[in-house]
Amino acid sequence: MTYTLEKQVAIEAVTRAAKLCMAVRADMVGADSLQKDDKSPVTIADFGAQALVCQRLLAAFPQDTIVGEEDSTDLQKPENEVKLAQVSQYVRRFQPDATPQAICGWIDAGNGAVTRRFWTLDPIDGTKGFLRNDQYAVALALIEDGEVKVGVLACPALPLNLDQPDSSVGVVFVAVRGQGATMAPWHSDVFVPIRVTSETNKAGMRFAESVEAAHGDQARQQALAQATGITQPSLRMDSQVKYGVVARGDAALYLRLPSPKSPDYRENIWDHAAGALIVEEAGGRVTDMYGRSLDFATDRKMYQNRGVIVSNGLLHAAVIKALAQ
Ligand code: AMP
Ligand code: MG
Repeated sequence: MTYTLEKQVAIEAVTRAAKLCMAVRADMVGADSLQKDDKSPVTIADFGAQALVCQRLLAAFPQDTIVGEEDSTDLQKPENEVKLAQVSQYVRRFQPDATPQAICGWIDAGNGAVTRRFWTLDPIDGTKGFLRNDQYAVALALIEDGEVKVGVLACPALPLNLDQPDSSVGVVFVAVRGQGATMAPWHSDVFVPIRVTSETNKAGMRFAESVEAAHGDQARQQALAQATGITQPSLRMDSQVKYGVVARGDAALYLRLPSPKSPDYRENIWDHAAGALIVEEAGGRVTDMYGRSLDFATDRKMYQNRGVIVSNGLLHAAVIKALAQ
């Protein structure tokens, strides 16, 4: 299997959804006038992006199951009529025949259950970053027989080169199992191969972690990075963009340990599947904090895993060993 069609459709679907997210974010009233608890831009973009991705997947692969984050139950309530109209307005820019009813149907096409072959979708990964004008991603992965086969991450706010602040912004990462990982700048279809860092000077290495303190254990993450010889401060970024920066060598590690405030939290498959394949195909490793493979085959949540450790491969054993102590 070469997954040529799956890869092409996934790139198109995710890019189109990311453009919708960019349009919503561009229309957001100035960041300072946005109420802290006003989630409506992210709601509109989340629903719109899921509708666009599912529409495209359904048209190309009508037999396939989609396990996405959103469903349209709330959106269909009478009190949300205005919101549904707003979602429709954005979706129609990309899919002119879209009616509110069709849009709800596409969103709910993403309510499938985990099966032998399915797609998993996060229409906006890093919703807090989206609202903060920081990083976010549209993440889509194809899983077959428990393995991620295709992973696509659209990262509209990620600079092409982190060390060059004036470099262009917007990156798409793509990986197909056995075919390596690649990246293309926004508005380009020229994908270039990427590799994790094989630098051995640990003092120059960085590690990535979430911006949101509540999504991890930052004190322990820092201690762990130090135990492996990393002395630089962390790169704090929202969403699976962190997998992308490890895959292209900007960071040697991405550490995500369970937060002491939510010890029973279980990770969602759509928050990791696409990123994990991209890092592995770039030569890195992804496991949970006990060194176990991430389980994408059983449920929407990875009940068998705790925390996530992403590395350039070279540092992986040392991190898992330090965690065992
Ligand atoms: P990040 O931007 O890396 O923090 O990842 C965002 C994702 O974190 C969201 O899509 C949520 O699904 C997930 N999340 C929410 N609560 C938690 C938590 N307590 N621990 C870990 N991840 C969480
Ligand atoms: Mg997410």
